[in-house]
Amino acid sequence: MTAEYPTPEKLIRAEVRELDVYHVPSADGLVKLDAMENPYGWPPELVQGWLAAIRDVPLNRYPDPVARDLLPLMRAAMAVPDGAEILLGNGSDELIQILMTAVAGARRSVLAPEPGFVMYRLIARALGLNYVGVPLRSADFSLDLPALLKAVELHRPALIFLAYPNNPTGNLFNDSDIERILEAASGLVVIDEAYAPFANATWMPRLAQYPHLLILRTLSKLGLAGLRLGLLVGSSEWIREMDKVRLPYNINALTQRTAQFALEHNEVLLAQAEQIRAERGRLFGVLGALKGVTAYPSRANFILFRVHSVSAPAVYARLLDDGILIKQLHGAHPMLENCLRVTVGTPEENQRFLDSLAGVV
Ligand SMILES: *Cc1c(COP(=O)(O)O)cnc(C)c1O
Repeated sequence: MTAEYPTPEKLIRAEVRELDVYHVPSADGLVKLDAMENPYGWPPELVQGWLAAIRDVPLNRYPDPVARDLLPLMRAAMAVPDGAEILLGNGSDELIQILMTAVAGARRSVLAPEPGFVMYRLIARALGLNYVGVPLRSADFSLDLPALLKAVELHRPALIFLAYPNNPTGNLFNDSDIERILEAASGLVVIDEAYAPFANATWMPRLAQYPHLLILRTLSKLGLAGLRLGLLVGSSEWIREMDKVRLPYNINALTQRTAQFALEHNEVLLAQAEQIRAERGRLFGVLGALKGVTAYPSRANFILFRVHSVSAPAVYARLLDDGILIKQLHGAHPMLENCLRVTVGTPEENQRFLDSLAGVV
Protein backbone atom coordinates (compact mmCIF):
# COMPACT_ATOMS: atom_id res chain seq x y z
CA MET A 1 0.00 0.00 0.00
CA THR A 2 1.38 3.39 -0.94
CA ALA A 3 0.80 6.17 1.53
CA GLU A 4 -0.94 9.25 0.21
CA TYR A 5 1.53 11.82 1.41
CA PRO A 6 0.23 15.37 1.37
CA THR A 7 1.61 17.84 -1.14
CA PRO A 8 1.70 21.63 -0.83
CA GLU A 9 -0.51 21.80 -3.92
CA LYS A 10 -3.23 19.93 -2.08
CA LEU A 11 -2.80 21.35 1.39
CA ILE A 12 -1.62 24.95 1.20
CA ARG A 13 -4.31 27.52 0.38
CA ALA A 14 -4.11 28.92 -3.14
CA GLU A 15 -3.72 32.49 -1.82
CA VAL A 16 -0.60 31.41 0.05
CA ARG A 17 0.88 29.37 -2.77
CA GLU A 18 0.54 32.35 -5.08
CA LEU A 19 2.58 34.59 -2.75
CA ASP A 20 6.30 35.15 -3.13
CA VAL A 21 8.65 34.80 -0.17
CA TYR A 22 9.63 38.27 1.06
CA HIS A 23 13.08 38.51 -0.43
CA VAL A 24 15.89 40.36 1.36
CA PRO A 25 19.14 40.64 -0.62
CA SER A 26 22.42 40.04 1.20
CA ALA A 27 24.20 43.27 2.16
CA ASP A 28 27.53 41.72 3.18
CA GLY A 29 30.32 44.21 2.60
CA LEU A 30 28.02 46.72 0.94
CA VAL A 31 27.01 50.27 1.76
CA LYS A 32 23.50 49.43 2.93
CA LEU A 33 20.99 52.01 1.71
CA ASP A 34 18.06 49.76 0.92
CA ALA A 35 15.98 49.32 4.07
CA MET A 36 15.45 52.70 5.78
CA GLU A 37 17.73 51.86 8.66
CA ASN A 38 19.38 54.52 10.79
CA PRO A 39 23.07 54.38 9.73
CA TYR A 40 24.42 55.56 13.08
CA GLY A 41 25.46 53.33 15.95
CA TRP A 42 25.68 54.29 19.59
CA PRO A 43 28.67 55.99 21.26
CA PRO A 44 30.80 53.49 23.29
CA GLU A 45 29.65 54.79 26.69
CA LEU A 46 26.03 54.23 25.69
CA VAL A 47 26.85 50.69 24.57
CA GLN A 48 28.45 50.11 27.99
CA GLY A 49 25.33 51.38 29.73
CA TRP A 50 23.15 49.15 27.59
CA LEU A 51 25.24 46.04 28.33
CA ALA A 52 24.91 46.80 32.02
CA ALA A 53 21.15 47.23 31.62
CA ILE A 54 20.59 43.85 29.92
CA ARG A 55 23.03 41.99 32.16
CA ASP A 56 20.45 40.80 34.65
CA VAL A 57 17.55 40.16 32.29
CA PRO A 58 16.28 36.76 33.45
CA LEU A 59 16.42 34.68 30.29
CA ASN A 60 14.98 31.66 32.04
CA ARG A 61 11.71 33.52 32.63
CA TYR A 62 9.01 34.49 30.19
CA PRO A 63 8.99 38.21 29.51
CA ASP A 64 6.51 40.54 31.18
CA PRO A 65 3.41 39.92 28.99
CA VAL A 66 2.33 43.55 29.18
CA ALA A 67 5.76 45.26 29.26
CA ARG A 68 4.86 47.27 32.35
CA ASP A 69 8.21 49.06 32.64
CA LEU A 70 8.42 49.93 28.98
CA LEU A 71 4.91 51.26 28.34
CA PRO A 72 5.20 54.61 30.18
CA LEU A 73 8.43 55.39 28.31
CA MET A 74 6.76 54.54 25.00
CA ARG A 75 3.78 56.69 25.88
CA ALA A 76 6.02 59.66 26.61
CA ALA A 77 8.37 59.18 23.64
CA MET A 78 5.51 58.86 21.15
CA ALA A 79 3.37 61.60 22.75
CA VAL A 80 0.42 59.23 23.05
CA PRO A 81 -2.56 61.30 24.22
CA ASP A 82 -4.32 60.58 27.52
CA GLY A 83 -7.22 58.22 26.99
CA ALA A 84 -5.52 56.34 24.16
CA GLU A 85 -4.15 52.83 24.73
CA ILE A 86 -1.05 51.11 23.35
CA LEU A 87 -0.59 47.59 21.96
CA LEU A 88 3.00 46.49 21.39
CA GLY A 89 3.99 44.32 18.46
CA ASN A 90 7.06 42.42 17.28
CA GLY A 91 7.59 45.17 14.75
CA SER A 92 4.65 47.08 13.33
CA ASP A 93 4.47 44.28 10.75
CA GLU A 94 3.10 42.05 13.49
CA LEU A 95 0.54 44.70 14.42
CA ILE A 96 -0.63 44.83 10.81
CA GLN A 97 -1.03 41.06 11.00
CA ILE A 98 -2.92 41.34 14.31
CA LEU A 99 -5.28 43.97 12.89
CA MET A 100 -6.01 41.85 9.84
CA THR A 101 -6.38 38.64 11.83
CA ALA A 102 -8.96 40.31 14.05
CA VAL A 103 -11.16 41.32 11.11
CA ALA A 104 -10.42 38.43 8.73
CA GLY A 105 -13.45 36.63 7.38
CA ALA A 106 -15.41 35.87 4.27
CA ARG A 107 -15.79 38.83 1.94
CA ARG A 108 -13.89 41.18 4.25
CA SER A 109 -11.75 43.76 2.44
CA VAL A 110 -8.57 45.67 3.21
CA LEU A 111 -7.82 48.82 1.25
CA ALA A 112 -4.61 50.78 0.72
CA PRO A 113 -3.32 53.27 -1.84
CA GLU A 114 -0.73 52.02 -4.32
CA PRO A 115 2.19 52.06 -4.74
CA GLY A 116 2.44 51.51 -1.01
CA PHE A 117 3.88 49.35 1.73
CA VAL A 118 3.93 45.76 0.45
CA MET A 119 3.10 44.11 3.78
CA TYR A 120 -0.51 45.32 3.61
CA ARG A 121 -1.10 43.27 0.47
CA LEU A 122 1.06 40.34 1.55
CA ILE A 123 -0.59 39.82 4.94
CA ALA A 124 -4.10 40.44 3.60
CA ARG A 125 -3.59 37.78 0.93
CA ALA A 126 -2.08 35.31 3.39
CA LEU A 127 -5.18 35.66 5.58
CA GLY A 128 -7.59 35.25 2.68
CA LEU A 129 -8.77 38.86 2.84
CA ASN A 130 -9.82 40.72 -0.27
CA TYR A 131 -7.04 43.26 -0.86
CA VAL A 132 -8.01 46.41 -2.75
CA GLY A 133 -5.19 48.65 -4.00
CA VAL A 134 -6.26 52.09 -5.20
CA PRO A 135 -3.76 53.90 -7.45
CA LEU A 136 -2.31 57.21 -6.30
CA ARG A 137 -2.15 60.12 -8.74
CA SER A 138 0.87 59.44 -10.93
CA ALA A 139 1.99 63.09 -11.17
CA ASP A 140 2.76 63.61 -7.46
CA PHE A 141 1.70 60.38 -5.69
CA SER A 142 -1.09 62.22 -3.88
CA LEU A 143 -4.32 60.42 -2.95
CA ASP A 144 -6.87 60.11 -5.72
CA LEU A 145 -9.75 61.06 -3.45
CA PRO A 146 -12.66 60.39 -5.85
CA ALA A 147 -11.25 56.95 -6.69
CA LEU A 148 -10.66 56.18 -3.03
CA LEU A 149 -14.11 57.25 -1.91
CA LYS A 150 -15.65 55.18 -4.68
CA ALA A 151 -13.62 52.12 -3.64
CA VAL A 152 -14.58 52.66 0.01
CA GLU A 153 -18.25 52.78 -0.94
CA LEU A 154 -17.97 49.72 -3.17
CA HIS A 155 -15.88 47.45 -0.92
CA ARG A 156 -16.70 48.83 2.54
CA PRO A 157 -13.21 47.81 3.75
CA ALA A 158 -12.84 46.58 7.31
CA LEU A 159 -9.41 48.26 7.32
CA ILE A 160 -7.94 51.16 5.39
CA PHE A 161 -4.16 51.61 5.64
CA LEU A 162 -2.61 55.01 4.98
CA ALA A 163 1.16 55.24 5.37
CA TYR A 164 1.97 58.79 6.46
CA PRO A 165 4.50 59.49 4.93
CA ASN A 166 3.98 56.87 2.27
CA ASN A 167 6.56 54.20 1.45
CA PRO A 168 8.05 54.04 -1.22
CA THR A 169 7.00 57.48 -2.47
CA GLY A 170 8.04 59.49 0.61
CA ASN A 171 5.25 62.07 0.49
CA LEU A 172 2.68 62.97 3.13
CA PHE A 173 -0.91 62.62 2.03
CA ASN A 174 -3.12 65.66 2.22
CA ASP A 175 -4.72 66.02 5.68
CA SER A 176 -8.07 67.14 4.27
CA ASP A 177 -8.13 64.06 1.99
CA ILE A 178 -7.52 61.86 5.03
CA GLU A 179 -10.35 63.62 6.87
CA ARG A 180 -12.69 62.82 4.00
CA ILE A 181 -11.64 59.16 4.11
CA LEU A 182 -12.17 59.05 7.87
CA GLU A 183 -15.65 60.47 7.39
CA ALA A 184 -16.50 57.99 4.63
CA ALA A 185 -15.03 54.88 6.25
CA SER A 186 -17.32 52.25 7.71
CA GLY A 187 -14.33 50.30 9.03
CA LEU A 188 -11.11 51.19 10.82
CA VAL A 189 -8.62 53.67 9.40
CA VAL A 190 -5.00 52.90 10.29
CA ILE A 191 -2.51 55.71 9.80
CA ASP A 192 0.93 54.10 9.63
CA GLU A 193 3.44 56.62 10.94
CA ALA A 194 6.58 54.48 10.60
CA TYR A 195 8.50 57.56 9.43
CA ALA A 196 7.22 59.96 12.08
CA PRO A 197 10.75 60.78 13.35
CA PHE A 198 11.49 62.42 9.99
CA ALA A 199 8.10 63.82 9.02
CA ASN A 200 7.33 66.54 11.55
CA ALA A 201 3.65 65.64 11.14
CA THR A 202 1.36 63.26 13.00
CA TRP A 203 -2.28 62.37 13.51
CA MET A 204 -1.64 61.34 17.11
CA PRO A 205 -3.32 64.44 18.66
CA ARG A 206 -6.45 63.78 16.60
CA LEU A 207 -7.13 60.28 17.93
CA ALA A 208 -9.86 61.52 20.27
CA GLN A 209 -11.69 63.08 17.33
CA TYR A 210 -12.15 59.80 15.46
CA PRO A 211 -13.00 56.66 17.46
CA HIS A 212 -12.27 54.45 14.42
CA LEU A 213 -8.78 55.89 13.89
CA LEU A 214 -5.73 53.85 14.89
CA ILE A 215 -2.09 54.90 14.62
CA LEU A 216 0.91 52.66 13.99
CA ARG A 217 4.41 53.60 15.05
CA THR A 218 7.69 51.71 15.16
CA LEU A 219 11.16 52.05 16.64
CA SER A 220 12.66 50.49 13.50
CA LYS A 221 13.23 53.60 11.41
CA LEU A 222 14.29 55.60 14.46
CA GLY A 223 17.34 53.40 14.90
CA LEU A 224 16.27 50.09 16.45
CA ALA A 225 15.35 47.98 13.43
CA GLY A 226 17.09 44.97 14.97
CA LEU A 227 14.82 44.99 18.01
CA ARG A 228 11.49 44.52 16.20
CA LEU A 229 9.25 46.77 18.25
CA GLY A 230 6.18 48.59 17.02
CA LEU A 231 3.09 50.04 18.65
CA LEU A 232 -0.55 50.43 17.79
CA VAL A 233 -2.35 53.33 19.41
CA GLY A 234 -6.09 53.85 19.69
CA SER A 235 -9.13 53.78 21.93
CA SER A 236 -9.32 51.08 24.60
CA GLU A 237 -12.38 49.41 23.03
CA TRP A 238 -10.45 48.61 19.84
CA ILE A 239 -7.08 47.90 21.46
CA ARG A 240 -8.75 45.41 23.85
CA GLU A 241 -10.06 43.35 20.92
CA MET A 242 -6.74 43.44 19.05
CA ASP A 243 -4.98 42.33 22.23
CA LYS A 244 -6.92 39.06 22.14
CA VAL A 245 -5.29 38.17 18.82
CA ARG A 246 -1.77 38.99 20.00
CA LEU A 247 0.31 35.95 20.98
CA PRO A 248 1.30 36.11 24.65
CA TYR A 249 4.91 37.15 25.26
CA ASN A 250 5.27 38.57 21.74
CA ILE A 251 7.79 41.16 22.98
CA ASN A 252 10.86 39.33 24.25
CA ALA A 253 12.67 40.27 27.44
CA LEU A 254 15.81 41.63 25.74
CA THR A 255 13.73 43.82 23.46
CA GLN A 256 11.76 45.18 26.41
CA ARG A 257 14.82 46.02 28.45
CA THR A 258 16.76 47.39 25.48
CA ALA A 259 13.90 49.59 24.32
CA GLN A 260 13.51 50.85 27.85
CA PHE A 261 17.19 51.76 27.96
CA ALA A 262 17.08 53.34 24.49
CA LEU A 263 14.05 55.48 25.32
CA GLU A 264 15.73 56.63 28.53
CA HIS A 265 18.36 58.00 26.14
CA ASN A 266 15.89 59.05 23.48
CA GLU A 267 17.76 62.31 22.89
CA VAL A 268 20.54 60.33 21.18
CA LEU A 269 18.08 58.79 18.71
CA LEU A 270 16.32 62.10 18.14
CA ALA A 271 19.64 63.84 17.41
CA GLN A 272 20.44 61.13 14.87
CA ALA A 273 17.03 61.61 13.25
CA GLU A 274 17.79 65.34 13.04
CA GLN A 275 21.11 64.56 11.32
CA ILE A 276 19.32 62.26 8.88
CA ARG A 277 16.77 64.99 8.08
CA ALA A 278 19.55 67.48 7.36
CA GLU A 279 21.36 64.95 5.18
CA ARG A 280 18.10 64.19 3.36
CA GLY A 281 17.93 67.83 2.32
CA ARG A 282 21.47 67.79 0.96
CA LEU A 283 20.99 64.44 -0.79
CA PHE A 284 17.75 65.62 -2.39
CA GLY A 285 19.44 68.78 -3.67
CA VAL A 286 22.34 66.97 -5.33
CA LEU A 287 20.19 64.10 -6.61
CA GLY A 288 17.62 66.44 -8.13
CA ALA A 289 20.34 68.44 -9.88
CA LEU A 290 21.72 65.36 -11.65
CA LYS A 291 20.86 65.24 -15.34
CA GLY A 292 18.65 62.29 -16.16
CA VAL A 293 17.27 62.01 -12.62
CA THR A 294 13.93 63.10 -11.15
CA ALA A 295 13.94 63.06 -7.34
CA TYR A 296 10.64 63.14 -5.45
CA PRO A 297 10.35 65.28 -2.31
CA SER A 298 10.41 63.16 0.85
CA ARG A 299 9.26 63.55 4.43
CA ALA A 300 10.83 60.20 5.35
CA ASN A 301 14.41 58.91 5.65
CA PHE A 302 14.57 57.80 2.02
CA ILE A 303 14.22 59.37 -1.39
CA LEU A 304 12.41 57.93 -4.40
CA PHE A 305 13.93 58.84 -7.74
CA ARG A 306 13.40 58.07 -11.39
CA VAL A 307 16.12 57.65 -14.00
CA HIS A 308 15.62 58.66 -17.62
CA SER A 309 18.72 57.84 -19.64
CA VAL A 310 19.32 54.29 -18.32
CA SER A 311 17.00 51.65 -16.93
CA ALA A 312 16.55 51.35 -13.17
CA PRO A 313 17.76 47.72 -13.12
CA ALA A 314 20.93 48.82 -14.93
CA VAL A 315 21.49 51.61 -12.38
CA TYR A 316 20.90 49.14 -9.56
CA ALA A 317 23.45 46.71 -11.00
CA ARG A 318 26.09 49.41 -11.52
CA LEU A 319 25.69 50.68 -7.95
CA LEU A 320 25.99 47.10 -6.71
CA ASP A 321 29.24 46.75 -8.66
CA ASP A 322 30.44 49.81 -6.76
CA GLY A 323 29.46 48.20 -3.47
CA ILE A 324 26.24 50.14 -2.89
CA LEU A 325 22.90 48.51 -2.18
CA ILE A 326 19.69 50.49 -2.78
CA LYS A 327 16.14 49.37 -3.64
CA GLN A 328 15.18 48.72 -7.24
CA LEU A 329 11.46 49.39 -7.80
CA HIS A 330 11.00 49.05 -11.54
CA GLY A 331 8.44 46.30 -12.01
CA ALA A 332 6.99 46.62 -8.50
CA HIS A 333 4.15 48.85 -9.75
CA PRO A 334 3.41 50.48 -13.14
CA MET A 335 3.72 53.91 -11.53
CA LEU A 336 7.28 53.13 -10.44
CA GLU A 337 8.68 52.73 -13.94
CA ASN A 338 12.48 53.16 -13.76
CA CYS A 339 12.28 54.17 -10.12
CA LEU A 340 14.70 53.41 -7.31
CA ARG A 341 14.67 54.23 -3.63
CA VAL A 342 17.69 55.24 -1.60
CA THR A 343 17.79 55.38 2.19
CA VAL A 344 19.51 58.44 3.65
CA GLY A 345 22.81 57.21 5.11
CA THR A 346 25.78 58.96 6.67
CA PRO A 347 27.27 61.88 4.68
CA GLU A 348 30.08 59.56 3.50
CA GLU A 349 27.69 56.83 2.39
CA ASN A 350 25.48 59.31 0.58
CA GLN A 351 28.49 60.77 -1.20
CA ARG A 352 29.60 57.32 -2.37
CA PHE A 353 26.08 56.72 -3.65
CA LEU A 354 25.96 60.08 -5.45
CA ASP A 355 29.40 59.61 -7.02
CA SER A 356 28.50 56.15 -8.24
CA LEU A 357 25.12 57.29 -9.57
CA ALA A 358 26.62 60.28 -11.36
CA GLY A 359 28.84 57.80 -13.23
CA VAL A 360 25.83 55.87 -14.56
CA VAL A 361 23.22 58.46 -15.43
C1 LIG B 1 9.20 49.96 7.51
C2 LIG B 1 7.75 50.09 7.57
C3 LIG B 1 6.99 49.41 8.52
C4 LIG B 1 7.56 48.21 9.27
O1 LIG B 1 8.06 48.49 10.45
P1 LIG B 1 8.52 47.37 11.47
O2 LIG B 1 8.13 47.98 12.75
O3 LIG B 1 9.99 47.26 11.29
O4 LIG B 1 7.80 46.09 11.20
C5 LIG B 1 5.64 49.68 8.64
N1 LIG B 1 5.05 50.54 7.80
C6 LIG B 1 5.72 51.19 6.84
C7 LIG B 1 5.01 52.12 5.93
C8 LIG B 1 7.09 50.97 6.68
O5 LIG B 1 7.74 51.56 5.69
